[in-house]
Parts: sequence; C-alpha cells; structure tokens
Amino acid sequence: MSIDFVSMTQEMRISWLETLGQPKFRLKQIEEWVFTHGVVNYADMANLPKSLREDLESSGVPVTFSRVVAEHHDATTTKLAILLGDGQAIEAVVMQYHHGISLCVSSQVGCKMACSFCATGTSGFRRNLTRHEMVSQLLLANNLLRAKNAKITHIVMMGMGEPLDNYDETIGFIRLTCSPLFGISPRRITVSTCGLVPQMERLAHEDLPINLSVSLHAPNDELRSTLMPTGKTYALNKILATMHYYAESTGRRVTIEYTLIKGVNDREKDADELVSKIKGSKFHVNLIPLNPFLGSALERPSPARTRKFQQILTAAGLTATIRRELGSEIGAACGQLGGNIRQ
Ligand code: SAH
Repeated sequence: MSIDFVSMTQEMRISWLETLGQPKFRLKQIEEWVFTHGVVNYADMANLPKSLREDLESSGVPVTFSRVVAEHHDATTTKLAILLGDGQAIEAVVMQYHHGISLCVSSQVGCKMACSFCATGTSGFRRNLTRHEMVSQLLLANNLLRAKNAKITHIVMMGMGEPLDNYDETIGFIRLTCSPLFGISPRRITVSTCGLVPQMERLAHEDLPINLSVSLHAPNDELRSTLMPTGKTYALNKILATMHYYAESTGRRVTIEYTLIKGVNDREKDADELVSKIKGSKFHVNLIPLNPFLGSALERPSPARTRKFQQILTAAGLTATIRRELGSEIGAACGQLGGNIRQ
C-alpha cells in the first residue's frame, strides 16, 4: 500500500487495523502517539504490545513517508532537511523564542513567484505539498523536541513556497493544526504571502482568525515589480486595501514584511514613500535585513541604515521592528531555504 498513516482517513485507518486483527481502540492509542507526542516510529509507541509494534512496522504503512535527513543547529534555531516520499527535498525551521517555539513550514517544493532576492524563488517550482506533508513537518519537529519535553506552539507559513498559491492544502493543514488533534490556536498561526489578492480576500472569509503577513518590499509598483514578478499582476494599492479588509473582517493583526536590500529599497526616500502609503494604519512593519545566498549579488544594508529606515517609520507613528536574525549562519533564515548560504 503506498499511503502513510498521516494521509489516511479515519475509515482507512480503522480498516488497516482490522486487516492486522486489531480493535478500534488501538487507533486512538496510535493517533495519540503520533499527533500528541510526535512519535514517528511504531517501535517507540511504548504502551503497544511488542508484537503489534512489529506488525505495524512491517504493514507497509509508515507513520509518514517524510523523514529528516539532516539537522543544522545554532543556539536558537534548528533547520531540518526533509526528504518526502517521492524523493523531493524541503526544509523546515524550528525557532526558539521567549514566548514559545515556532515552526516555519514549507508549503511547496520550490516556488513559482521568482522573487529576485529569495533563494527558493530563484530555484524554480517543483510541486505543491499536500496538507499531510505539512502535518509531517510538524510531527518531525515535535519528534525532535520530545527529548526536551517541548512542543511546537506557533506556526509560520514562511518556509519554501507561496502558501496562498497552494491555497486548499494550506488551509486544510491549518484546520488540522487547529483541530483537537494538535490544538494550536489560530491566533498562533501566521500565513505569509507575496500579495495574491484574490486568495487574501478568500482567506478573510475562512472564519479562521489567523495572522496575515504580506511581503511588500517596496513602496511603489515600479520598484516592487522589479523585485517581485507578482507586482505586475497585483498593484500595491489593491494589496494594501485587501490588507485593511482582512484586518477589519478578522480582527487580526496584519504585518508588512519589508526585506531591506542595500541600495535598492533601503533609501530614505523609500522609507518616506512607504510612510505616505500606510500612515495612520495599524499595520506592523517587520524589517528584514537581506539574508545573502549563493549566486546572488544582492547585499544587506548596514545596521545604521537599517535603524534609520526604522526611525523614519516610527517617527511617523508606525510600529516597526527589525526581525531578530535567527539561523542565518546555518542557512535557515528568511529566503535562504533550498539554497546555499554564501561562503
Ligand atoms: N512566499 C511567502 C513566504 C516566504 S518567506 C511570502 O512571499 O511572503 C518569508 C519572508 O522572507 C518573505 O517576506 C520573503 O519575502 C522574505 N525573504 C525572502 N528572501 C529573503 C532574503 N534573502 N532575505 C530576507 N528576507 C527574505
């Protein structure tokens, strides 16, 4: 059988257990191990009889086809290289914050959006992930954290891919993580998009109070479309209007992500123009000094220039923070996934 346990429906799981001569209550036990504890090997399911664990192992249905093939650690961040059932590779990042532990989830293998400053974007698109492949990233992360008696508390859809370009599977995944299986509050989940307006509108009607982050990266369409091809399809004003609409409909905070690229979009006039577009709004601006990657000539601005950009925004009454840099030394920071860090 070429399906894994996480991808099975409830009915499939029950009949699979029936073929192994097992009563229904076993399913609850296995689900608890998998979804509550992040156990991805039947051998580790301590309260199951040993013979059953062996039968499960040899049944041809692994807990998940996804497996961690490499881990890169620094003090606060762990990047997991994950091999999917069909041999494709993705990455997920576990980040330790004072308020909890976030998982940065990939939604696609590669990305179609082709943003010039992003390693994933410049490497092309392979395929969408299924919701269960996203669930597997969560299981594998929780499995890793088990040794520390910890669990993922927050989810950010900021890994490889454009989550709203894989809309149904992303929403399906988020609904699963909010279900009692995982019980993560939607308020602790953030979707990041390059500004796909129709999908942002749809998201506002999902009755899912999740946080929305929008990658703006430029204060006008002209500059924006040189960095992000989607800028040619969706105008900045339309994106900003949709962000207001999302905030009003859901009551959730909307964040602007702005990657600062030296000499490109980090000038004082860029900050002034951004202020003129969003002054008086409640949007939170998150400034991300560019993370360099192999093959790209783009550079990050100096800390002084980054602070100057921030000051112009805050002086205008906006809230603007500089994203704490996590994982850039291990190639796990924003925009570095699926690429190679510059040596
Ligand atoms: N496709 C989604 C999620 C992408 S990653 C989106 O576009 O929002 C999350 C953030 O990292 C995005 O804001 C993205 O634009 C930014 N980013 C991409 N490459 C980067 C880089 N090299 N340095 C810093 N931030 C980058």
